[in-house]
Amino acid sequence: MEIQANPNNNPNKLHRIIINHPAINVGKVKSVYEVGGEADKVMIEYHDKVTAFDGKKTSEPSEKGKVCCLISSLLFEHLGKRGIKSHYIDCPSLNTMLCKKLTIVPVEVIVRNIAAGSIVKNTTMKEGTLITPPIVEYFLKDDSKGDPLLTFDRVRLMGVDPEPMRKIALDVNFELQSLFTLMGIDLVDFKLEFGYDAHGDLYLGDEISPDSMRLWEKNSGMSKDKDIFRKYGSDEALVSAYKDILTGLRQFT
Ligand code: C5P
Repeated sequence: MEIQANPNNNPNKLHRIIINHPAINVGKVKSVYEVGGEADKVMIEYHDKVTAFDGKKTSEPSEKGKVCCLISSLLFEHLGKRGIKSHYIDCPSLNTMLCKKLTIVPVEVIVRNIAAGSIVKNTTMKEGTLITPPIVEYFLKDDSKGDPLLTFDRVRLMGVDPEPMRKIALDVNFELQSLFTLMGIDLVDFKLEFGYDAHGDLYLGDEISPDSMRLWEKNSGMSKDKDIFRKYGSDEALVSAYKDILTGLRQFT
């Protein structure tokens, strides 16, 4: 399947790509660039890369950057139409997102509807247990400290008010759960990042894609997310599952 731009985006806007601008930040799978003449914006480039286990396992699956960028753009657009503000502005090429520049809060906010991953590893819960109502967890965004689990009070003591992030995270969960249910998929869990713009307003940042969520097909129980890479290390199976998610989202958003 050749990957096309999302319906709302114009693939001819390539002039916006930041070729001559230095990267402000080179992350594990994305780079962030200045945008000439627009100090309040950044361009985020999604690379054909996947990493797991704190970067110990990596690969470079062809087309993954585009697919994650297009999924993320669709989800941010979908949330935006429902009043949930994010840094997303536009998707000027298949693997770049034009975004509002944010000061990122060093907290990863995780919502869980079904037990999997670290909650199974670190508690007595069994994988697959329904979590109703959903819970919100906070982890320090710091690889050098191993991204430890925080408490609500610890986030507060770090000078960040967790309450607005918690409320937005649950609103995002409601919207995404409704959407993925239509696609026959269980939204198991996902991670959000937040940041403040120059006026101090809070926005969703980073990405929302199968790299940062667990998605289980209702019929088969099969993963359609990064666990495919974590467990089996298959680039082809990973990109194929992500493309299925993109196709489903184009039908239902
Ligand atoms: O590992 P854990 O079970 O806590 O992850 C919960 C969810 O958050 C998963 O969907 C995982 O992909 C995502 N996550 C992430 N980035 C991290 C940690 C977790 O996207 N640094």
